[in-house]
Amino acid sequence: PSWLGVMGGGQLGRMFAQAAQSMGYQVAVLEPAADCPAGQVAQRLVNAGYSDANGLDELARQCVAVTTEFENVPADSLSRLAQSVFVAPNAHGVSVAQDRIAEKRFFVGCAPKSGVMPAPHKVIAALEDIDAISDDLLPGILKTVRMGYDGKGQVRVKSRDDVRNAFEAMGQVTCLLEKMLPLAYEVSVLTARGADGESVVYPIAENVHRDGILFTTTVPGPNVSAQCAKAAQDAATAIVAELGYVGVLCIEFFVLTDGTLVVNEMAPRPHNSGHYTIDACATSQFAQQVRAMARLPLGDVRQHSPAVMLNILGDVWFEDGSDTPRTPAWDKVLGLPGACLHLYGKDDPRRGRKMGHITFIAATLDDAQRQLNAACAILGIPA
Ligand code: ATP
Ligand code: MG
Ligand code: MG
Repeated sequence: PSWLGVMGGGQLGRMFAQAAQSMGYQVAVLEPAADCPAGQVAQRLVNAGYSDANGLDELARQCVAVTTEFENVPADSLSRLAQSVFVAPNAHGVSVAQDRIAEKRFFVGCAPKSGVMPAPHKVIAALEDIDAISDDLLPGILKTVRMGYDGKGQVRVKSRDDVRNAFEAMGQVTCLLEKMLPLAYEVSVLTARGADGESVVYPIAENVHRDGILFTTTVPGPNVSAQCAKAAQDAATAIVAELGYVGVLCIEFFVLTDGTLVVNEMAPRPHNSGHYTIDACATSQFAQQVRAMARLPLGDVRQHSPAVMLNILGDVWFEDGSDTPRTPAWDKVLGLPGACLHLYGKDDPRRGRKMGHITFIAATLDDAQRQLNAACAILGIPA
């Protein structure tokens, strides 16, 4: 059997491996942590750093294609792999997505084709840059250019002094100041593009965040008009084509209170807001990644059931005030109709850590939402 490789051993790598295995592949994971969600299920764990030349060469030798499960993989590592094995996504796409400045520049350049712009923004690389910001960018959000996720590495700022304090608190690493926009709601568009240039777009997902972390994804989005869905899907198709991208890519958009669509950021990989596709679509985002990287035909993106996805954070292991984890009542959750539970094999729950997710599928979105509310009540998650 052929081997597929994945850079990174987190839950996205795990679900990728499971999809690849169900399609007959063996999976090798490159990950420095000895115990990791993907390593638990893969046929092989190459236990090495993401830039380790020997580890990369081993992965390249063993596999017919390699992908990544996180956007912060060193782009140079993907280039090295690409000298001897097919790599999707490639170093270019990943390097744009992992740097907010390159990403914003790309979105602006692509706007004539995509029809969408990012939020007004300015690069803050030194204290002097703060004096030069236009009042129009405040209030805003100061975001680190690299490595931020789940709202980490960003601070909300109201005044120039706030920007200065936040920039200093972040150790003066290069940041981007973004104007705070009036969001009506947030959506994401999952797309995949094959090596032949054909692309597919999944239905629009509507996302709710809590404390900077994705809380729920609902598909179809209750607030999304047909017109907004089409604009976001067309923008996503233009963006992957312009990037010359191969693989699964997820693009986050804001819909403003006046209806304007704004592009926020993109993830060069399967995305948390696409987990619903495992249980609600003909082809999951992970199976789609396998198809794209193995240069197989892309799969049907049709959604067969309305779906709501709830992220399960480590918080649900802890009763109010207690520091001793206890297993949540999965038996009760699994008694709810249409509950599809996915746990990632992490044995040390911590507050704020993604431990798993539950997708509820049902004949109607209302039914699915009712079951999600029931699950929240069982797990002690405030509705
Ligand atoms: P992710 O985990 O999705 O990668 P991240 O840490 O990279 O998140 P963003 O997605 O840029 O950060 O921002 C996190 C959240 O903060 C957004 O989903 C949105 O709710 C809010 N937000 C970010 N930028 C803006 C903005 N310009 N105006 C209003 N709200 C914003
Ligand atoms: Mg991000
Ligand atoms: Mg985001």
